[in-house]
Amino acid sequence: MSFYEKGLKQLISELSRGEISAVETAAEFMRRIVEYDDEINAFISVNDNLIAEAEKVSSAEDGGELRGIPLAVKDNISTENLPTTCSSRAINWDMRRYNAEAVQAIVDGGGLIAGKTNLNELGMVSASGQNALLVTVNPWNKKYLPGGSSGGSAAAVAAGMVPAALGSDTGGSIRMPACYCGVIGLKPTYSLVSRHGLIAFAPSLDQIGPITRSVEDAALLLDIIADRRRLNFAELGLEDFDLSDLNRDDLSGFKFGLATNYLEDERVEAEVREKIEETIDKISGLKGRVENIKLPSPELVKSIYYIIAHGELFKCLTEKGDFGDKCFPDDAIINRLSDNVNLLGREVKFRILCGSLMQSEGYEQKYFARAVRIRTLLIEEMRKLMSEYDIILTPTSPTIPGKKSEGLSRRKAGAYDFPDFTILANLTGLPAMTLPCGFSTPGLPVGLQFMSDFFQDKKMLAAAAKLEEELDLPSLAEPGVNSD
Ligand code: GLN
Repeated sequence: MSFYEKGLKQLISELSRGEISAVETAAEFMRRIVEYDDEINAFISVNDNLIAEAEKVSSAEDGGELRGIPLAVKDNISTENLPTTCSSRAINWDMRRYNAEAVQAIVDGGGLIAGKTNLNELGMVSASGQNALLVTVNPWNKKYLPGGSSGGSAAAVAAGMVPAALGSDTGGSIRMPACYCGVIGLKPTYSLVSRHGLIAFAPSLDQIGPITRSVEDAALLLDIIADRRRLNFAELGLEDFDLSDLNRDDLSGFKFGLATNYLEDERVEAEVREKIEETIDKISGLKGRVENIKLPSPELVKSIYYIIAHGELFKCLTEKGDFGDKCFPDDAIINRLSDNVNLLGREVKFRILCGSLMQSEGYEQKYFARAVRIRTLLIEEMRKLMSEYDIILTPTSPTIPGKKSEGLSRRKAGAYDFPDFTILANLTGLPAMTLPCGFSTPGLPVGLQFMSDFFQDKKMLAAAAKLEEELDLPSLAEPGVNSD
């Protein structure tokens, strides 16, 4: 088996048995990046010192379990050795040279940072390609986009350029591109992974999380980056996220709620609905109990999201100290951005303007404060549902990704009337993930979204792992195979 086909778990076990070396591991993945990234454009910057860093970890006495394994990091997460651009032309100063806590946890385990991946400018919009420094394409079919905003991370993992990557998710930016690229994308329970070093978009919604090619690898990476320093794991009933000892025969014991108002929404494409329905039959075949439920409408959820996200965005840019974890610790970003405001993309300018309205006198009470109250009601409603169901299921995206040539069409992710099924988990803080569940006609993946109760990330991963085994789908795209 070639290196690029191996996942985190396998690499770790081969490294620990001495069957492969740290330097060989780093070099093989770098070869794959050099071979394919010209076609895919997943990376904004690549780490030229990767092999030297692998030599260093391999000679260290305790190199750590990840020694030599290169991971990719979305370019809105701070790293010590590589610049952070947020894929914005307006940010042309050398931003935040330190490792975000989630990155540091990887480095402490001997992991290496292969490079920083492309995103929509500052993490806004779900269809990679708009306003970004470069256009990433979907490794399953290069005529299509990978989705966003963590499109570079998802494409890099799907193409086997790295076995795993970090993304960030404010309203679906891990799950949407992971869905479009046929890989696993996990938005952990809010606060389970530290946001330190993540350039804020909307701090009460933003969350860092893993993108991998298997559910078990997502659990493994979550275990590494989970914030054990701030959270009391014992009190929360958490030990680890290790799935290897679970070995379930089936899905009996799991009660699933299928959100029929999402699945039957007329904007859900027929092929997406068909794949999801086939997958639900498989869940029943595995003895999982599935009942139909209704979730708050995507329209309501999206309106609340835009008011809160853009209001917070504006606060973040202009004030200090509100969220502790600011875009810039020492300086209001707006002062620096004002010199470069013309270089900001249209989308970002538009959102800053919306945010300023949401925070202005009069509107703050009329919109922002009301949206926050409705958010509390949404949380109550979801908690009630979660007391009845272990897992809630929806399609991750109602459509397959957009074509590169189409740009941002109204019916594709990122458009304001697109029904986002991912946002509810950010507004409520609940954990959610996407699992690939089939392929559409142009060879593009379809994803099923799982949502669970607070800190039930492991339970959600365990159910997804069983279904993944049953579905047995390919997770590695060979770039260049499909381009129709
Ligand atoms: N579609 C959402 C938005 O454009 C998602 C963004 C995100 O998760 N970063 O705001």
